[in-house]
Amino acid sequence: MHNLYEAVIGLEVHAELATRSKIFCSCPTTFGAAPNTACCPNCMGFPGTLPVLNRNALILGIKAGLATGCQISREVRFHRKHYLYPDLPKAYQITQYDTPLCTGGSLPITVSAGERIVGITRIHLEEDAGKLIHTESQGTLVDHNRCGIPLIEVVTEPELHSSEEAVAFLKTLRSRLLFAGVSDCKMQEGSLRCDVNLSIRKKGDTALGVRTEMKNLNSFSSVKRAIDAEFLRQVQMIENGEEIFRETRRFDEITGETILLRRKETTSDYRFLPEPDLPPFRLEEELITSLADTLPEMPEAKKQRYQSLYGVTDEECDLLLSEPFLAALFEHSVSQTLYPKLLVNLLLGDLLTKLSGASADPLALASVATLWGDGRVNSTAAKRLAMLVAEGETDPLSAMERLDLAQNSDPGAIRGWIEGVLEKDPSLLDSYRRGKTNVVKAISGAVMAASRGKANPVLLAKLLEERLAKI
Ligand code: ADP
Ligand code: MG
Ligand code: ZN
Repeated sequence: MHNLYEAVIGLEVHAELATRSKIFCSCPTTFGAAPNTACCPNCMGFPGTLPVLNRNALILGIKAGLATGCQISREVRFHRKHYLYPDLPKAYQITQYDTPLCTGGSLPITVSAGERIVGITRIHLEEDAGKLIHTESQGTLVDHNRCGIPLIEVVTEPELHSSEEAVAFLKTLRSRLLFAGVSDCKMQEGSLRCDVNLSIRKKGDTALGVRTEMKNLNSFSSVKRAIDAEFLRQVQMIENGEEIFRETRRFDEITGETILLRRKETTSDYRFLPEPDLPPFRLEEELITSLADTLPEMPEAKKQRYQSLYGVTDEECDLLLSEPFLAALFEHSVSQTLYPKLLVNLLLGDLLTKLSGASADPLALASVATLWGDGRVNSTAAKRLAMLVAEGETDPLSAMERLDLAQNSDPGAIRGWIEGVLEKDPSLLDSYRRGKTNVVKAISGAVMAASRGKANPVLLAKLLEERLAKI
């Protein structure tokens, strides 16, 4: 019965901007500071304090718009949005109302059915509220450190129709914001979180149904589960002849259900009011042009380049592009070696976890790929050298010599190791004669060990095959 209906989904995504200080005061934005140590009378809303706009927050907001194909408003205005909640000491949030910083953008998404374009209605700047911490023994505590953290809110058109599309949109948005340097987008730290608006309608209908809103989802998997659960709930309601109300709901990670929080406030409840302490101002044209000119290459363009120049696969691209530092490392190394595929292999192996936070030398990494590609070390040794590079080694060639890792491609030496292994354990050849071909693996493993990992594996395989053909 639920395939008679389609979901209509619009997202409101909040991203914390990657500034060092807050949006209207100079408090630091460090994540994880002890509660109430990164706040001041301004961000705690003491009467008489005055907000001053952080220029860098404005710049990152503009970059977010440029990275998502929006128009940038030439006029910047802020409003107060009033509501009473214990995490909001001022009792209003400074945000943008009728003149958002960015409007009319779009992003491509790729889903199993193909590629689609999803409209972005607006992106505006605002401040975050504090955080409530519910405890067993002390009741509810308030941490004001998050008050005044700069945010953008990205609002999409109601143009998404499944959890797959919503998650694809979030992934594209995340990677654009990351590469534009707008936000670190760490969902586990709440730097990127998403409200899902969802209504249903009969397939083929064009009018919009009544929507519910699910707040503060902070992982791709909860977005997916919340959408799937809410879609089914609404279909059930309609099928039972019940009415859907405009309401705010919460997704329960444990039960997998959405739960009513409150019936939705309307715009007039917020008593929007122009922020009197931040007069409107005009953006200089040159600022916008220079930001547009210096916007880094976006991930989709990088992906195309990686695929056409270096033959990197789809999945490899997605991994390389999961973090800007990784993409930068790849780009700086790949131009220095003739073996891009081996370089990708090194980067995306065990090295991957080691690399984050490390400052691996791109040139050194490239020369490991070259040593491997030229057959001077085998894959095991190459991976070991790459690890050393991640730990700060800058001269893999000397490391190879120092650690005696050079690959041995001398047929005589390899034949010697083969004979040694066969003599030492005659049962190996017996098993082979009896047709146990998987003993070949055991023999080549023993030969590799005899060579202390240095035998050229391709040559070893060839010579071993020749040797066994003789018996
Ligand atoms: P509000 O100001 O109440 O948050 P907006 O008009 O800004 O409402 O819309 C918020 C989000 O809800 C947008 O992403 C929009 O696409 C989405 N939306 C609006 N109407 C519907 C609907 N009927 N069904 C699903 N999503 C909707
Ligand atoms: Mg809204
Ligand atoms: Zn402050």
